[in-house]
Amino acid sequence: MKKLLPLFLLLIFCLTACTPQGPEVASLFAMDTFMDLKIWGDASALDALQTEIRHLENLFSVTDENSALAMLNATGTAELTEEMAVLLQEALEFSAQTEGAFDPTLYPLSVVWGFPEKNYRIPEAEVLDALLPLTGAERVHLSGTSIHLDAGTSLDFGGIAKGYAARRCVQLLEAMNVEAALLSLGGNVQTYGTKPDGSAWVIGLADPDAPNKAIATLSFRGTLALVTSGSYQRYFTQDGVTYHHILDPDTGAPARSGLCSVTVICDDGAMADAYSTALFVMGLEKSTEFYRTQGTFEAIFITDAREIYVTGGCADLLSGCNFTIITKEASIP
Ligand code: AMP
Ligand code: MG
Repeated sequence: MKKLLPLFLLLIFCLTACTPQGPEVASLFAMDTFMDLKIWGDASALDALQTEIRHLENLFSVTDENSALAMLNATGTAELTEEMAVLLQEALEFSAQTEGAFDPTLYPLSVVWGFPEKNYRIPEAEVLDALLPLTGAERVHLSGTSIHLDAGTSLDFGGIAKGYAARRCVQLLEAMNVEAALLSLGGNVQTYGTKPDGSAWVIGLADPDAPNKAIATLSFRGTLALVTSGSYQRYFTQDGVTYHHILDPDTGAPARSGLCSVTVICDDGAMADAYSTALFVMGLEKSTEFYRTQGTFEAIFITDAREIYVTGGCADLLSGCNFTIITKEASIP
């Protein structure tokens, strides 16, 4: 028996060494959503990613009264960490670029619709009218790491936090020399590197009418952030009308822009996240203009009528559906 043991161990070693390395996987519930992490490489990277996501949740949660953001909202003034100050500065820039369509100051409005606590209700028009003057990036005063919010103003990073988490995960994966990873953080997908077998990433685009199914797929290789903002992701229905969580900063009500899903594809998770929220608010026409002038991203739009529009740079990646291509240049009428 003693002689057989080394042979047995050798056999196990050979089997492990000869089997192609599958991904290491982890699932967690964080930032109010289910997340799936897959990595090809050092399994300890999974722990590092989860620790980072939990750290960011502790900074940005609006419902945990001990988070850095909730404490800032409660007092209106704070000395931020360098990391939070930099992200807030970026959020304010995304707000300016999108002419306020992305607005990190809508928290008081989300609260009266009951979205943060999932205690949904339709606020009176007067309530929205009273809160709208408390919103807007100009009410946020950031100087270095010192921040002051005008009275009644409070912040919500829900439109950017998961994308920022994806960005931070990519930085960790780079530092840990992981070969490839596929991160699914709620509506945010982040690919990283190339799988050991060289095959392409195949990412499903959620069907707004059956979000667990794909309406189309995207195939590509390499590192990309793909973030979807959809009216089907969080909503409630009252008297046959659906009210979703992406608010129009002009009205304080769920954005009715004619779109039910916007996916932004670009190099950076935080930008993809902020832009997907903003483009959802803007609607197809304004988003097309934004794409033509801004140009550092690609996007897929699904309209309320279930028509699919795709910007030129990502049309080749998409299969399984009919779509219209949005070119960089406006066609001459
Ligand atoms: P997303 O799912 O990334 O589109 O972000 C939606 C979340 O961001 C909501 O649940 C709110 O927390 C917040 N939010 C809602 N409307 C806006 C908006 N117009 N700009 C920025 N954040 C928003
Ligand atoms: Mg977003």
